[in-house]
Amino acid sequence: MFERVLIANRGEIALRISRALRTLGCEVAIIHGREDRLSLPVRFSDIAIPNYSANPLDSYLDYEKVIEAAKEIGAQAIHPGYGFLAENADFVRRCEEEGITFIGPSSDVISLLGDKIEARKAMEAAGLPVAKGSSEPVASSSEAATIATEIGYPVIIKAAAGGGGIGMQIVHQESEFDSALNLCQSRARSAFGDERVFIEKYIEGAQHIEFQVLADGKNAIHFGERFCSIQRRHQKLLEEGPWLSPEVREEIGARVCAGAEAVGYKGLATFEFLRDSSGEFYFLEVNPRVQVEHTVTEMITGHDLVSLGIRIAAGESLPFTQDEIEISGHAIQCRINAEDPVNFVPSPGRLWDCHFPAGFGVRVDTHAHVGYEMPGCFDSLLAKMIVWAPTREDAIAGMKTALSETVLVGVDTVIPLHKVILSEPDYLARDITIQYIEEHPNLL
Ligand code: ADP
Repeated sequence: MFERVLIANRGEIALRISRALRTLGCEVAIIHGREDRLSLPVRFSDIAIPNYSANPLDSYLDYEKVIEAAKEIGAQAIHPGYGFLAENADFVRRCEEEGITFIGPSSDVISLLGDKIEARKAMEAAGLPVAKGSSEPVASSSEAATIATEIGYPVIIKAAAGGGGIGMQIVHQESEFDSALNLCQSRARSAFGDERVFIEKYIEGAQHIEFQVLADGKNAIHFGERFCSIQRRHQKLLEEGPWLSPEVREEIGARVCAGAEAVGYKGLATFEFLRDSSGEFYFLEVNPRVQVEHTVTEMITGHDLVSLGIRIAAGESLPFTQDEIEISGHAIQCRINAEDPVNFVPSPGRLWDCHFPAGFGVRVDTHAHVGYEMPGCFDSLLAKMIVWAPTREDAIAGMKTALSETVLVGVDTVIPLHKVILSEPDYLARDITIQYIEEHPNLL
């Protein structure tokens, strides 16, 4: 095991990683910006390295500073968490050059999976079902229209380097292509510095289902699925699992493991899919890192995924076989974002009061505390509330109780929205697609 690991992240995930590292016997170091100097992950670390910059995001994005810090304190490994540097192949390459272990897959695998066009090709070759679409970048609207006529409208234009739902455009007819293509390309250029876009069949009435994978470079196992269709602006709000029948889980699970093995994957990964109303699966992308909603899987499998990812990075092989992974009960996660619950505008500010629930099956992953100053410059995730129970009905009831015991004064949160979702008939009947929020405007 590593002796000292540098965390290149902030907020709840920095704290989550810090807990795993300490439990594994590692010293915990963290590099942080000015806004986070009093934050819990910084206060609980063994070594904190300030990296203050005029632009707060640079404190976490300037990867030469991160490498410099790791070398200065003799950290053997860097944990990127999610976001920031987690999927930056140039950063991973620099770690490899410096002989620092990046906790995650190799730079080559990150480059491959970071390009959605290449990832689609690789996973199709490995036997995963993908939606019909372009196998090369699409540059002109006439080219786009030819492909759309072939695969049928509606289609969706997506950035090859995409993430966070940025830039995606749905197109219903040829006349919309000119502006939609331009918009997607310019969003892609400004967000990712890469204007390549591609076209995919738009899957109507789809559900978002994803598989949790762990691989050691040779073999892969999966920990079942999570259902993440409750989204706002293509971003997840509430996640739960399990969702599928054991037969479907086994079938798709075997395919995702084959996909991970085909690219020599090492570490934690999430394979995202859309599932249409007839039950067909379509591969979307691989997220090559720990994910916000990994907690749901931890609760239903009883495995500490973050620790497992660190152990794999330290050179261990998979510590168990697929047969040893069992799913028990049901878990739901509500993301407690500091946002207006109607229009999702961020609501930064100081927490004058802060109390989280506890009790049987309740878990809260958060860096929030009384007096915490929620900055406006980072994402708005303040806490993740996870409830486990033997059945979905019990987990829903438990989550309602947990939310009603939560006190957050000083910022707006999406708790009122979660409360109404948890009582809404379609939600209760599992009749949910990725359009759920748009189709239920009365919830807002
Ligand atoms: P990103 O990496 O930007 O998050 P994804 O490809 O993972 O993009 O898609 C994010 C979300 O966008 C999906 O969960 C879904 O809501 C929507 N989406 C993406 N592709 C399609 C598609 N082909 N059909 C319908 N919805 C889609």
